Amino acid sequence: MTVHRRFRDRIRIGPVQVATYYDGRGRDMHTAACTAPGCGFSTDYRDRAAAELAARTHHCKA
Ligand SMILES: [Zn+2]
Repeated sequence: MTVHRRFRDRIRIGPVQVATYYDGRGRDMHTAACTAPGCGFSTDYRDRAAAELAARTHHCKA
């Protein structure tokens, strides 16, 4: 996972990491990113709950 922003409140749900970051335009954004090699799942969300839900329901193909 490429960390080019400042992530905080990082948690791990299975292989997926959920983190909150400041998007530089006055908003907090939330990202769910799978850490499994070869998966590549990574999505940003406006809502923390949405990111955590995506992490929980992620079906890893790796
Ligand atoms: Zn995955």
